[in-house]
Amino acid sequence: MAAKGDLIYASALNADILAKGECGGAVTALLKYALESRLADGVLTVEKGVDLYDAKPVYITDPALLINSAGSLHCGTLLIPKLIKKYFNGARDLKIAVTLKGCDAKAMYELAKREQINLDNLIMIGLNCGGSLSPVPARNMISKKYGIDPDCVFKEEFDKGKFIIEYDGGEKGISVNELEEEGYGRRLNCQRCMTKIPRQCDLACGNWGFVGDGSKKATFIEICSEKGANLVTKAESAGAICVSDAPESGIAVRSKIEKSMLLLAGKAREKQFAMLGSGKERLNFILEETSMCIKCYQCIEKCPVCYCVECSTKKPYFVPPGRIPPPFMFHLIRYSHIADSCINCGQCEELCAMDIPNSLFMHAIQVEMEEMFGYVPGEDLGLPVLALVEESQERKRLLDTGCDQIFDIFKN
Ligand code: FAD
Ligand code: SF4
Ligand code: SF4
Ligand code: SF4
Ligand code: SF4
Repeated sequence: MAAKGDLIYASALNADILAKGECGGAVTALLKYALESRLADGVLTVEKGVDLYDAKPVYITDPALLINSAGSLHCGTLLIPKLIKKYFNGARDLKIAVTLKGCDAKAMYELAKREQINLDNLIMIGLNCGGSLSPVPARNMISKKYGIDPDCVFKEEFDKGKFIIEYDGGEKGISVNELEEEGYGRRLNCQRCMTKIPRQCDLACGNWGFVGDGSKKATFIEICSEKGANLVTKAESAGAICVSDAPESGIAVRSKIEKSMLLLAGKAREKQFAMLGSGKERLNFILEETSMCIKCYQCIEKCPVCYCVECSTKKPYFVPPGRIPPPFMFHLIRYSHIADSCINCGQCEELCAMDIPNSLFMHAIQVEMEEMFGYVPGEDLGLPVLALVEESQERKRLLDTGCDQIFDIFKN
């Protein structure tokens, strides 16, 4: 019987899932079992879209269709939690099993703290994550640096410090360090990311620490909750997965990789934050970059921490309408509202129509706030620095009383 804290190897027993899964298909088999056993009403996961560079979210209720989603897509830069809030009523009425990278897991926690998502109805299957690539730069890199037509690539993966592509006619891997020194490789926020093993989830799954003979595939799973342990136990009993204890050598390898990834991320932070300068220099840099803003609202629309029904940036007395670029107040509002809780998912930069490094600005501020207050967004379910206000109740109170001050912000 599996228990919280166990470190195991797991593979799918279904031959098709075993073959199609990235590392033996345990995740797909667990999701399928969750659906079949009605532990979940549906599965929200990711599937290849028009091509390998297009990761699209899919909601699956037919267990037979789950195999289509097996495999890892590293060029998909989606963030799933806001979809659950927006399109699934925050999982209030449905039980959903969902796959999550570290940034997804942190966003889930920040939304749950604000009562926007019901974690009790979710089975969170975490995926370790060394990083992801933005689709257009990925195509560019493959064309220019690898010298391969990106449309001929049918598989991509990170392995032993390399980004490897398989294409019609061969295979080519280049070290991630080399790629990133030349401005290619993982998204900048991924290079700064320190959530490599998403222990916020019920299970944290990955290939790090699998020391098999090479002919077999399996996923290394850290069981992070009772819910995760229950799923593994039941799926094993039902013959969906086979499980064994991870050997000491595998555990040591995984721990060593995690430590070195964290070290690298620390160095990337230092380097990238240094580019911003400090004091007035930083302010001028931000002013210059944001002067290109066309007020498309994508940074707000996609940010998991920005979900207000009435966004202050749309209030004419804060941000006079009809001006492009908008007054700096537009950006200041966002910085002041969410800098404490930015989880460095990169969405506000990824989706910015003008390639403004929003995520870099916000993450740099967040890290400074973290140093001041010790609050680490997305790490646990503790309250954010500017704690919970239930928006509709608060708006009603303001309207009823004619008051314009928000109270009770440190509500327990
Ligand atoms: P499968 O049975 O193949 O199932 C994988 C599941 O993940 C599917 O449900 C699929 O829809 C979903 N999925 C695919 N792409 C995404 C995505 N972009 N976002 C959310 N869900 C997705 N493991 C490591 O140990 N080290 C790493 O550095 C590492 N980096 C990763 C980076 C990314 C972007 C991703 C998606 C995964 C990464 N993994 C990493 C996890 C690893 O690749 C496997 O997903 C994991 O070992 C499970 O293998 P499996 O065969 O059991 O999964
Ligand atoms: Fe992975 Fe972190 Fe990048 Fe998210 S931010 S895709 S968890 S490396
Ligand atoms: Fe993600 Fe940007 Fe929001 Fe931070 S500010 S959580 S990086 S979208
Ligand atoms: Fe809410 Fe502020 Fe984000 Fe607007 S900018 S959605 S008001 S947190
Ligand atoms: Fe401005 Fe970019 Fe935000 Fe659009 S996404 S409003 S261009 S900062």
